[in-house]
Amino acid sequence: MPLVSMRQLLDEAAKGGYGVGAFNVNNMEQIQAIMEAARESNSPVIIQASRGARSYSQDKFLYHLMLAAAELYPEIPLVMHLDHGNSVETCKSAIDLGFTSVMMDGSLMPDGKTPSSFEYNVKATREVVELAHAKGVTVEGEIGVLGGIEDGHGAGGTGLEHVTDPEQAVEFVEKTRVDALAIAIGTSHGAYKFTKKPDGSVLKMDVLIKIHQRLPKTHLVMHGSSSVPKDLQDVINQYGGKLKPTWGVPVEEIQLGIRNGVRKINVDTDNRLAITGAIRKVLAESPDKFDPRDYMKPARDAMREVCKARMKQFGQAGNAGKIKPATCKEFAKMYT
Ligand SMILES: [Zn+2]
Repeated sequence: MPLVSMRQLLDEAAKGGYGVGAFNVNNMEQIQAIMEAARESNSPVIIQASRGARSYSQDKFLYHLMLAAAELYPEIPLVMHLDHGNSVETCKSAIDLGFTSVMMDGSLMPDGKTPSSFEYNVKATREVVELAHAKGVTVEGEIGVLGGIEDGHGAGGTGLEHVTDPEQAVEFVEKTRVDALAIAIGTSHGAYKFTKKPDGSVLKMDVLIKIHQRLPKTHLVMHGSSSVPKDLQDVINQYGGKLKPTWGVPVEEIQLGIRNGVRKINVDTDNRLAITGAIRKVLAESPDKFDPRDYMKPARDAMREVCKARMKQFGQAGNAGKIKPATCKEFAKMYT
């Protein structure tokens, strides 16, 4: 199956009332973990690469690994998405390479740190929409600013400084015609999202619901939505790690989001934790081992289990076979 348009997966998810996990990758083992999880749970899936991942892997390596994934798992509708494009040029380079979906994060200036003006965000995102839709490539925009920093991208803070204004979200979607919209509701990138189990004072699900009521046809995206489960933290700390106590976004809150228009859920930290815990365990228990496969294989298995659990919790499991994949070329016609 060729790589498919993200718009198609999100439209299908809206019809079926489920969400689709978007998992970040840097290397072969992570892609394999996601594809095995998708096969075992019959899930359509989004694989995404940040600018940091593209530079780490020389993105051509990632692209060809994605083509291998599409070839080896022909039954799985698969999207290759750019996470947090910082400029029109970055998005264009991803489209030229063969990504089937891009995020233009115009909530920040091209430095990836400084919050931008609404006007700048509209202009940059609109420009990306024009060049992406001409090729049938999906565009995700962002309005409001997320908390935390990941891979050097982010404004920092708790995520509550620039919570999305629902009225501005409506204007943004009308002016840019984005396919999907990332919103800021108090979540942050990275492992340290909340200092206790989040309640409505720090995780603004009420704002999400208001945005969905005003934009019922826009696919909403939750960023920074790892759940940071305690058992994954515990494995790391048990084998010599030093993570401070932290809380992520509880799965039941994500499920509430899915009932209110959330169609794409970004998960990275949980997989990082699973991989690191598995590697630490092998190295601590068998200090004589030195073949990278001895620890990369358990790491890959651990990530696969996290992905599979999320695919079931988000409701995408069981839906891969129901989708007749459309290529970006076919989608380009739809946009015109
Ligand atoms: Zn993000």
